[in-house]
Amino acid sequence: MDALPDTGGCHGGRDTLQAAARAAGKNETMDRLLADYPRGPHDQPQSMCPAFGALRVGLRMRRTATILSGSACCVYGLTFTSHFYGARRTVGYVPFNSETLVRGQLYEDIRNAVVATARPDEYDAVVVINLCVPTASGVPLDRLPRAIDGVRVIGIDVPGFGVPTHAEAKDVLAGAMLRYAHAEAAAGPVPRPRDMAGEARSIALIGELFPADPIGIGALLAPMDLVVAPATPAREWRDLYGALGCTAAAAVHPHYTAAVRVFRDAGRKVVGSGPVGSEGTDAWLAAIGAAAEVPAARIAAARERARAAVGAALAANPIAARITVSGYEGSELLVARLLVEAGAEVPYVGTACPRTEWSEPDRAWLAAHGTHVQYRAALEQDLAAMREVRPDLALGTTPLVQKAKELGIPALYFTNIVSARPLFGAPGAAALAGIVAAQTSGRERFARMVSFFGSVGAGEAAGYGFDGVPQEPPGLRERMRRARAAQAKAAEAVGT
Ligand code: SF4
Repeated sequence: MDALPDTGGCHGGRDTLQAAARAAGKNETMDRLLADYPRGPHDQPQSMCPAFGALRVGLRMRRTATILSGSACCVYGLTFTSHFYGARRTVGYVPFNSETLVRGQLYEDIRNAVVATARPDEYDAVVVINLCVPTASGVPLDRLPRAIDGVRVIGIDVPGFGVPTHAEAKDVLAGAMLRYAHAEAAAGPVPRPRDMAGEARSIALIGELFPADPIGIGALLAPMDLVVAPATPAREWRDLYGALGCTAAAAVHPHYTAAVRVFRDAGRKVVGSGPVGSEGTDAWLAAIGAAAEVPAARIAAARERARAAVGAALAANPIAARITVSGYEGSELLVARLLVEAGAEVPYVGTACPRTEWSEPDRAWLAAHGTHVQYRAALEQDLAAMREVRPDLALGTTPLVQKAKELGIPALYFTNIVSARPLFGAPGAAALAGIVAAQTSGRERFARMVSFFGSVGAGEAAGYGFDGVPQEPPGLRERMRRARAAQAKAAEAVGT
């Protein structure tokens, strides 16, 4: 698909604000963001504000305060969404107006807020997130004190015109925190992570996973004498040291470019893909064993055990359906792989995330099994694929599911339903078959609903019921078109 025009979006225009940010001294930041998160064919955000990803990572960490700096409407939306998802934490906000922004007072206000918040008895870290306007205006968070009374201060720019998805915004904060912790660990002794078992060799998982998945992955790794290290994004500051102390890292979600860079700087090998399905789990365990330099016999034992368990789970939970997969979480290719291994036909998978080396094994595997993989997929591409394929089930984002229901196609929300289940190893192989069968068997019901509501108004006639949709007066559209053209001409004349 050709690039769609920059339609402005909520931030008023990507190119304009990028130029403003550069003019205001954010050249280095913009270069880094554009290199780490290459743009897609469409202007973002098509879904929620990307900064939500960074906000959520901060809010999920213990003893971490998160402060937003941005327009009130953006902050309202972000706080609303974070509480909708059960943040149960205060979101800090430093307001501004034109004057405080232009005169540089906003930076002073942020600094004062950070100083007031950084209480070592309550917090390990204070995170400040610059949204679109403060980033475009060059508010210099890098000049904030690095620490106040031992409380780390992390300032990041997460503008919608520089970070395409909320998935990648998670990486902006996760990467910044890892970078900080790496410097601390290099400078001297650091506290021990709470849940680390002795001197065990460990694998650090990168990506926000369903809570049972790290436990299942731990079971897969056990025959290789490996344990799971604290996850990235972390839940507590000292977990960052535990993650960095791993033997090797696994980029299970493939868009954590900044975080991976820190693991590599710490001398850790990084493995892509994830243990999905039988073939996927087998290949992943082989790659992990090699990266961690596990003796061949132990790798073989782990693979054999996993093959038996995952193979049995897949055999007991076959899927016979044509399914399209679309999402913005980073796990779309892994889900598609699992579905194909379970017997589904998956002609299309679209992900809002970029193509990276960490999803390359999955892309190649899916391509070899007849699946079209669309990175940086726009909603229009996901919808076009669904219309063309007419799947038995569409997994996707809210607008896609809405459209699927209008068309009478059974559909499930990727975030709320698919991501709320285990994905890896034997539990993952058993998790999806039930909901796929329940949805696809309801296809008839969807078709009946479409025909039942067939005479009800839609689009501009929405709200009109079974007793009919009012008819347009003849010639109305043409008269309105002419009136608009005359108005535009008059406005142009005034302008000149
Ligand atoms: S911060 Fe930027 S991308 Fe987010 S809601 Fe505000 S204008 Fe939109």
